[in-house]
Parts: sequence; C-alpha cells; structure tokens
Amino acid sequence: MSAPWVDQFVSSLSSSFSGEVLTQARLSAFTSYRIGGPADLLVVPKNREDLLEVSNAFLAAGRPPVFILGNGSNILVSDLGYRGLVIRMTKFDLSLELQEKSSNEPDNENQNLTLKSGASLPISMFLRKCALEGYGGLEFLSGIPGSVGGAVFMNAGTNLGEVESRLLSIEVFKLPEGKVISLARKDLSMDYRKNNTLEELDIVVSATWKVDQAAPSAVEEVISRFLAQRKKSQPVTLPSCGSVFRNPKQMSAWKAIDQCGLRGHTIGGAQFSELHSNFIVNLGSAKAEDVLSLIKLAQEKCRHQLGFDLEPEVKFLGF
Ligand SMILES: Cc1cc2nc3c(=O)[nH]c(=O)nc-3n(C[C@H](O)[C@H](O)[C@H](O)COP(=O)(O)OP(=O)(O)OC[C@H]3O[C@@H](n4cnc5c(N)ncnc54)[C@H](O)[C@@H]3O)c2cc1C
Repeated sequence: MSAPWVDQFVSSLSSSFSGEVLTQARLSAFTSYRIGGPADLLVVPKNREDLLEVSNAFLAAGRPPVFILGNGSNILVSDLGYRGLVIRMTKFDLSLELQEKSSNEPDNENQNLTLKSGASLPISMFLRKCALEGYGGLEFLSGIPGSVGGAVFMNAGTNLGEVESRLLSIEVFKLPEGKVISLARKDLSMDYRKNNTLEELDIVVSATWKVDQAAPSAVEEVISRFLAQRKKSQPVTLPSCGSVFRNPKQMSAWKAIDQCGLRGHTIGGAQFSELHSNFIVNLGSAKAEDVLSLIKLAQEKCRHQLGFDLEPEVKFLGF
C-alpha cells in the first residue's frame, strides 16, 4: 500500500508534466552500488517547468521527506528503501555551452573562458566535450562517475583539485519556494567533499566553470592518463561508491583500514577491496546491511586501535 501523500502528490501534477513518475521503484537500479530497496515515489523532471510542478505537488502533498538523486555514485540506500520522494536529476539538463566573455574581467583569453553546464551532465561527458573543444583545467575530475549537480554538492575532486577551484557560480532551484536563485562562488562555502551553503531542499540546476584554452590532444592526453591510473589503483569494474571514508587528518583512510587489517575483509557480498582498501565493493549480491557492517567494523577498529574516527564520505538514504 502506498503512503497517503503519494496519491495526493501524483494527482497534483498537471498534464503538462513531461517527466517520469515511478512508484515503488527499486533504487538499486539508480545507484553505482547496485544496492537499495524501493522509494515510495520517484520523479524524474525533464525541465524547469517540471521542477515547478514538482514543487507545487510537494506542497500539496504536505511536504513529504525528499532526497535529491544525481547519478547515485555516492549513495548507500537501505535494503528497505526510502519512505519519501526521490527527485532524480539525470534527465533534467545535459547541456554544455560556452558563455560570452565578461567585459569587466582582465583581458586574458584563459581567464575569461566560461562554460555553463546543466546539472544532469555526467562528468565523463562534460570532460569528453571539453577535450573535443580544447577546454582545459577540469581534467582532475576524470573518472568521477557523478553528475555536475552531484559534483557541486559534494565538492568532488582528488588530490589534484576540487570543484570549488574552477566553479564560478551555480543556479539552485529552491523546492519549497519554487524559484531559481543564482549563487556566485563567493557566496558558496565549500570544504573537502562538502558544500556548506546548499540546504536540504536545494536542487542544483546548472553550474558555470572557468576553463582554459588548450589543445584538444593535450586535454585528451591528461584525461587518458588519469583514467589509466584509476584503472590500475581502483576496482573500477565492481560496483562501489568510490572512497567510503573521508581522509582523516592523521593518515589516508585506506592506510587506516589497512592498519586495522581490513583490506579484503568480506561480510556477506561486500568487501573492502583488495586493490584499494577505502573502496567497499559489491561482489554481486551485497546488501546495504553488509556494507554498513563493514563501515561500522572499520570505524570501531580505527577508534580502538588507532585512536581516531573515520567519517563516511558516502551519503546514507533510508536508514
Ligand atoms: C568508482 C568511483 C570513483 C569515485 N571517485 C571519486 C573521486 O575521485 N572524487 C570524488 O570526489 N568522488 C568520487 N566518487 C564519488 C562520487 O562519484 C562523487 O561524490 C560524485 O560527485 C557524486 O555525484 P552523483 O551525481 O553521483 O551524486 P549522488 O551520488 O546521486 O548524490 C551525492 C549527493 O549529492 C546530492 N545531489 C546530487 N545531485 C544533486 C543536485 N542536482 N542538486 C543538489 N544535490 C544533489 C545528493 O542529494 C547527495 O547528497 C567516486 C565514485 C565511484 C563509484
């Protein structure tokens, strides 16, 4: 039986809503872990008018719990799923365009190149287009399987750079208010894998980036090199969420997991990867509970054996 607000929500959407509406959709289909039970309701808006419809229906349905989903590459969803509304942002806006040069910026070609990307654009596609057109500077994002929206929310990156270093501004849809606001980089507080400014019901709809003019072959070469490095050092062929823990200041999370003797440790269908111990991989039939048990085990061992805490980077849904 569906939650009482679901019918109210669905009947509040007008016939002009062009997105998708799914009840009891299993979220395992939408996460890189391939794990997760059903959501009460999942909507996939395709444009800003659809988002406005979702906003109205959200209010009409009495503000049910909401989760914004990008490519699902940093999420662990409970085996029981999520009692609420998931707004999946993968088909919303996949555009990428070169913006006009701003006249009040210094007259330097590289400093003035600005790209605007839709929130749904996968980072891999974004970088491929950058390579084709000869826009450099974002190669450090190579191999991150998220969307633009997810990367902005997470301040995604590596030790070579983070989103914040190249971000100029974002547009955010405020779900309860049903309006889009623009935020310049100076209005955004971003830390290691954190965007402190975005609130729970904020939906990133676009982002603008500073890029440099570069030879397409040079951009391509850097991307290929970074992807090759990842293939060697990360278990990219098995479902995962990437790094499970944030790096504590004492040492890299993978080192802490190694020192706790957990590399390769397996519970049910989940395993601390042999290749990169800060990745928990789904060996094929992992439950969210298996992954969670490994996370708790590592936290307990790290606290008792090494004396500090491991904080998850992965986001939890439905627990
Ligand atoms: C193999 C692998 C390698 C990885 N390597 C890296 C790495 O090197 N560096 C790194 O930083 N991460 C890495 N990750 C993690 C992940 O790809 C990033 O965190 C990515 O930015 C998540 O984007 P997403 O679209 O998948 O977001 P999701 O996983 O769907 O969501 C992540 C968070 O962002 C929020 N969110 C998503 N879209 C929006 C939106 N449009 N508006 C508002 N909030 C939104 C969600 O609510 C959630 O809280 C890796 C993951 C995998 C599987």
